[in-house]
Amino acid sequence: MNEILKKSASEQRKALLNKEISAVELSQAAFDRIDEVESKIEAFNCLTKDTAMQTAKKVDEKIAKGEELPILAGIPLALKDNMNLIGYPTTASSKILQNFVSPYNATVTEKLLNNLVPIVGKANLDEFAMGSSTENSAFKKTRNPWDLNKVPGGSSGGSAASVAACEVTLSLGSDTGGSIRLPGSFCGIIGMKPTYGRVSRYGLIAFASSLDQIGPFARCVEDAAMLLEVISGVDPKDSTSLDVPVEQYSKLLNIDIKGMKIGVIKELMGEGVSVDVQKAMQNAIDTYKTLGAEIQEISLPYLKHSIGVYYIIATAEASSNLARFDGVKYGYRTKDARSLIDMYTKTRAEAFGPEVKRRIMLGTYALSSGYYDAYYKKAQQLRALIKADFDKAFEKVDLLLSPTCPNTAFEFGSKTEDPLAMYLTDIATISANLAGIPGISVPAGFDTSGMPIGLQILAPQLQEAKLFNASYKFEQANDFCYKFASL
Ligand code: GLN
Repeated sequence: MNEILKKSASEQRKALLNKEISAVELSQAAFDRIDEVESKIEAFNCLTKDTAMQTAKKVDEKIAKGEELPILAGIPLALKDNMNLIGYPTTASSKILQNFVSPYNATVTEKLLNNLVPIVGKANLDEFAMGSSTENSAFKKTRNPWDLNKVPGGSSGGSAASVAACEVTLSLGSDTGGSIRLPGSFCGIIGMKPTYGRVSRYGLIAFASSLDQIGPFARCVEDAAMLLEVISGVDPKDSTSLDVPVEQYSKLLNIDIKGMKIGVIKELMGEGVSVDVQKAMQNAIDTYKTLGAEIQEISLPYLKHSIGVYYIIATAEASSNLARFDGVKYGYRTKDARSLIDMYTKTRAEAFGPEVKRRIMLGTYALSSGYYDAYYKKAQQLRALIKADFDKAFEKVDLLLSPTCPNTAFEFGSKTEDPLAMYLTDIATISANLAGIPGISVPAGFDTSGMPIGLQILAPQLQEAKLFNASYKFEQANDFCYKFASL
C-alpha cells in the first residue's frame, strides 16, 4: 500500500500542493489498495473509476495553473450506495434496485463534485439502510477490517470499512437510528450524524424521512469536520434542510474546553455495558476532567422507550416510502405476472429481503385504521417526551456522553436469527435521531480482543462546532485514532 493512504485529508492535501503526488496518482493508489484488500473486505457494490479519475485530472490541472483548491479537492471518497451519482447504479443493496441507474445527482454528490472530491465507488449497506451489521445486504457481506469474522456494523458498513481499511480517506453514510455512528465505532473511525436538516437529503433513497440524515466518516475529527462543511447547507430541493449558515467547523476545533459542562447519560452506563466498554468510558470521563470540563451524571428517563418508539415511527415511514417500489417505475419487475396486482405482489415478494418485508408489515400495521392511535400516535407522543428529556438535559450541560454501543463488533450470524437482539445494538444511538440532534462516535480504545470501542458525544441541535471541538480535544489527548488493522 502507498503510505499516503494512511494519512489524513489535510496531510494528503499538503502532499498534493507540494507536488509530492498528483491527484491522479492518489486516486490510483486508492484503486490499487482496493485491488489489494477488497476480496477480504467487500466494502463496495461498484467502483466509479471514470468519475474519480476525471475529477482527479481536474484537480491536477488546477494545481498546475496555481489556482486555489477547494479544501477536499483530490481526496478519495466512497459514497454509500443509497445516494445518487448520475450514470452509475444506486442499489440500496436491494435486488429491487439492482439495475437502477441514477438519472440525477444527490445534492451531496453535486457538492462533492463541485468541490473536486474524487468519488471512488458506491459502498455496501444493509438493504435500504435497515440493519446494524450490513448482513441484510442482498449482495455481499462486508467484513470488519479488525477481524474478518466480525461485522463492520451497519447499516453504513461498506462506508466505514472502506475508510478503516484505507481504501479511501473519507466516505459518506446515512444515519436513521445509528447507521453512521455504530459502524464508525465498530471499525475504529469517526462517524458523525449531523442535526436533522443540516445536510440535504435530496437524492438519498428515503428510509424514514423524519429521521434520515447524511453524514461523514473519517479517520480523524478534522477530516470529518471538513467533510461536513462541504456537504452542509440549505437546499431548495429538500424542504426540511435548514437555512442556517454553515460554520467552518474545522477552524473551531482547538478551542479550550475548560469549564465546558459534560453530562454522562446514566441509563447508558450501567447494566448491559461490557466491562471493556465501561473502562473506556471511565477513561473518557477522566480525559475530560483533565481537560478542565465539569462532569455530571444526567438521567434521560424516557430513553428506555426509544427503541420501541423508533421501530414504530421508522417502520411506518419506511412502509410509506417503499410503496414506490412496485415494478412500474424503478428497477426489478417479476417475470410472470397475470394482472397488475399480481405484478406488484410478485415483484415485491421476489425482490425485497426478509428484513425489509418485516418492516413494511410492521409499519403498515402501525398505520392501519384502528391501530394508528394506539401505536403511531403514541409513538409520536413519546418521541416528543424523549426530545423534551434532551432539552432539559441541555439546560444543564453543553454535551452528553455515552458509549456508542454497549459492546464491540460481533460475529457474523450471531444476531441474525433474533431481530430484537439486533435492534438492541442501537440502544445508545437511536434517541439522537428521534430528537433530531447531532452525534458523533470517536475512537475510545480497544477491548481485550483488540476490537475498537466508540465514545458517543451528543450536542443540542446545530451545535456541531461544539461537538467537533470536544471530539478533537478528546482525540488529541488520547492515542486511539490512526491505528490500523493489519490486513
Ligand atoms: N439499525 C437501525 C435500523 O435497523 C438503524 C439503521 C439506520 O440508521 N439506517 O433501523
